[in-house]
Amino acid sequence: MTEKSQVVMKTCRDFCEHLSDYLDGEIGPNECVLIEEHLDICPPCALLFESLKTTVQICGRGVTDEIPADLRENLKQFLRRHCT
Ligand SMILES: [Zn+2]
Repeated sequence: MTEKSQVVMKTCRDFCEHLSDYLDGEIGPNECVLIEEHLDICPPCALLFESLKTTVQICGRGVTDEIPADLRENLKQFLRRHCT
């Protein structure tokens, strides 16, 4: 019964930390799943993130170099605002 909540990130802060790792290119398949799961259960994060990831798909490629510089900056600002 609690299995799903163990997979899904509990808080937006965890989500932000994983997203941060993603930006650093240090994210693995497990973290990718956690991010996607969180977006599924957290409308605020999903909404905000949707507006930023128009050209980037989490886990789509997992290569940090493919994230445009301005999008990276937007994501970082999003993290700063959303995670404090
Ligand atoms: Zn959230």
